[in-house]
Amino acid sequence: GKKMKKAAAVAPSSGKPPVAPDSTINLDHGDPTMFETFWRGTMGEHATLVIPGWQTMSYFSDVSNLCWFLEPGFEREVRRLHRLVGNAAAEGYHVLVGTGSMQLFQAALYALSPPADAGPISVVSPVPFYSSYPAVTDFLKSRRYRWAGDANTFEGDEYIELVCSPSNPDGGIREAVLKSKSGKAIHDLAYYWPQYTPITQMLAHDVMLFTVSKCTGHAGTRIGWALVKDREVAKKMNMFLELNTIGVSKDSQLRAAKVLEAVADGYERQPADTTGDASLLFHYARRQMACRWRALRAAVAASGIFTLPDEVAGFCTFAKDTVSANPAFAWLRCDKEGVEDLEVFLREHKIITRSGTRFGADPKVVRISMVDTDEAFGIFVDRLAAMK
Ligand code: PMP
Repeated sequence: GKKMKKAAAVAPSSGKPPVAPDSTINLDHGDPTMFETFWRGTMGEHATLVIPGWQTMSYFSDVSNLCWFLEPGFEREVRRLHRLVGNAAAEGYHVLVGTGSMQLFQAALYALSPPADAGPISVVSPVPFYSSYPAVTDFLKSRRYRWAGDANTFEGDEYIELVCSPSNPDGGIREAVLKSKSGKAIHDLAYYWPQYTPITQMLAHDVMLFTVSKCTGHAGTRIGWALVKDREVAKKMNMFLELNTIGVSKDSQLRAAKVLEAVADGYERQPADTTGDASLLFHYARRQMACRWRALRAAVAASGIFTLPDEVAGFCTFAKDTVSANPAFAWLRCDKEGVEDLEVFLREHKIITRSGTRFGADPKVVRISMVDTDEAFGIFVDRLAAMK
């Protein structure tokens, strides 16, 4: 609509060139550049950080902490944010920091798998699963663990189940499908934030992964965190991080801490500040996401050849209101005769998406990023609406 075209006039700093109306639109990755508009607003300066030349030189942050490279200020803001949002229990949990949650995912695989001579343990996730899970699990051909595909068809008691909720790619709320006592689970909660889904419960699983990439949109900062209940698991994960990268960039942790602090401060300031949601990240982002989903559903209705998962709503304990879910990805299906491969069909219309086959699903479905720039998204929905 009009609003989007207006926003497109702002020069993007995301490293992406401006998009010409007839050019190829890449919505393959979930690059959360849409949140740039929020941080360009009044909140931008609250998240600005200057690091003098003499700072952050040591490898160490707090030698008394199990995670000795974890910046205390970052840990404080992580715990404060979970208290504010109420999405996960942080009290009584060890906090670990990683170079993105992707590093912590690998640390958790290492920590939860048996020694090499007893393995490899099967790593599973229900279809459709996040396409990086098989790729990252198998690329080093570890003797400790091995990708074993769809959790729904897995038989056995020894496994690591990856539970992604809300799910990348389809936005569904998931619980572990396997229930064996000796089985392990890693909960990937990258999208369990109020802009994407109603917060319906405070989760308290053994290993929970989060990332600023999807929470605030700062994917380039490469900071994620894990909440880990068991001390021995936390120690093993930390050993992986030590051996892999000798810790995690302090500069990035300070930046992430500053950004999370700005988010929580924005909510604490709000009662006195009645200027809308410009200082309320989750409210602002949810409104933007909801606007995009309305535009997408209208385009799908105008076209007539596509379907989307049904819209779901629930009572959000954070928003204290019944709100709809606005997933970070659209899981778009096309059952039109003659369209056997939807990724190929959309590429012919200069829209790059990711095929369902990468997620263990069929080629008549694709995953499309809903969090790219206003400009790219606007062109995408216009093109989609015109497809008959
Ligand atoms: N988990 C899920 C479900 C994701 O979608 C992503 C990013 N696409 C990640 C983990 C990795 O995020 P990061 O490494 O940027 O924290």
